[in-house]
Amino acid sequence: MTVRLVFGRPLPGTVGETRRVVHVFELPTGDVVPERLTALCGSAFGPGELEHLDLIQGMPCVSCLRRTPTPDPELPAGRQEPQGQP
Ligand SMILES: [Zn+2]
Repeated sequence: MTVRLVFGRPLPGTVGETRRVVHVFELPTGDVVPERLTALCGSAFGPGELEHLDLIQGMPCVSCLRRTPTPDPELPAGRQEPQGQP
C-alpha cells in the first residue's frame, strides 16, 4: 500500500513553543483527508490544530523520525569503501 508522508506541527498557541515539533503523518492515498490525524509517534491532532508544512522546518519530532519508513530501500545508506586497499 502506498502512503503519502506529510509534515505538520501544532499551531502557535495550541501547545507550548517547546512542543511545537514537526511531526510526520502518513496519509492514505486519495483526496480524502481524515478529520483527525495521528502522527507516527502517536500524537493525534484535530482540525485547526496543525500547521501543514511541505518540508521539515524547525525542530523535528524525534519519535516520528525514528518511525519514518525509508523512502527507497534500494538506495544504499552510504558509500562502501573497499577494504584492505593500500
Ligand atoms: Zn511526532
